Amino acid sequence: MATVKEKLIENVSADETTSQRKITIVGSGAVGMACAISVLIKDLADELALVDVVEEKLKGEMLDLQHGSLFLNTRKIVAGKDYALSENSKLVIVTAGVRQQEGETRLSLVQRNVNIMKSIIPAVVHYSPQCIIIVVSNPVDILTYVVWKLSGFPVARVIGSGCNLDSARFRYLIGEKLGIHPTSCHGWVIGEHGDSSVPLWSGVNIAGVTLKSINPQLGTDSDKEQWKKIHTQVIQSGYEIIKLKGYTSWAIGLSVADISGTILRNLRRVHPVSTTIKGLYGINEEIFLSIPCILGQGGISDIVKVKLNSEEESLLKKSADTLWSIQKELRI
Ligand code: NAD
Repeated sequence: MATVKEKLIENVSADETTSQRKITIVGSGAVGMACAISVLIKDLADELALVDVVEEKLKGEMLDLQHGSLFLNTRKIVAGKDYALSENSKLVIVTAGVRQQEGETRLSLVQRNVNIMKSIIPAVVHYSPQCIIIVVSNPVDILTYVVWKLSGFPVARVIGSGCNLDSARFRYLIGEKLGIHPTSCHGWVIGEHGDSSVPLWSGVNIAGVTLKSINPQLGTDSDKEQWKKIHTQVIQSGYEIIKLKGYTSWAIGLSVADISGTILRNLRRVHPVSTTIKGLYGINEEIFLSIPCILGQGGISDIVKVKLNSEEESLLKKSADTLWSIQKELRI
């Protein structure tokens, strides 16, 4: 007996099943799921795959998202622990790993998360040899280096989410102080994501008017308005949110979706993301730090050569030295 489907539908041609804009997210914890909802709402993927080792929770997350399909434009949402699910991804977002506990630094997570990367990256590369990887797990700069090494990919295709979040926090806080939306507050935080990040006060501007031209002490100790505190708040914000709610998720999810949108739509927007800066600013080691990068469908196509003053350059060098002291001891 013919089924309802057979009576309803006359097949004309085979369904085209190969996804054109598939995104895989590895790690379906707080950050992975914030990335998932953000990329879904921005219509970035025609297929979303979630991979994690904890199958029950993963299945629950998958069903919950699938039931929102009516309100989304992503045709297929799949999840499981088998990396075959991730096959043919354009973009793989890595959020798996341990996170900071209250008061713990990002750098203290390093060897545990290196070991987790070793269990993930070969399978990702096997199933999606042409993908671009965005690393989010912490400490993100060191892990981006580790993932780059493990993947064997060109450096353009392994990107750390890095200071895209720190810069967003910076611009939000500047905006709060001035009563202006963050999109109109231009400012960059570069270097390590987190404790030793470097704010580029010389470039902070609204409509091309640099705040330094109004207040030459901006960002220094002698500034009466103490704008410097904004950067302290940027550094502290991760710790503060973890203390208050146990983890951070929404802003990093939105920030990763922002980077993903630039890549998948080939927009060539500039983002402060983590890449190797060996050979720049007097840094001679294979260190990954955030600097403004032009992103497109091939990943990082160019680096913007930001002019740093001597203080900014020495802060960046210090950031690199801190990371190198840890990186050189790693067992990859
Ligand atoms: P979480 O504990 O909520 O989730 C981590 C997930 O990773 C869990 O679901 C766990 O099962 C999974 N996982 C662990 N080992 C795995 C493996 N081998 N393969 C696949 N999945 C595995 O943690 P979270 O709050 O989502 O944070 C995830 C990571 O993101 C942490 O390292 C955290 O520090 C980092 N983070 C980075 C930024 C940033 O700006 N770069 C911001 C926030 C958090």
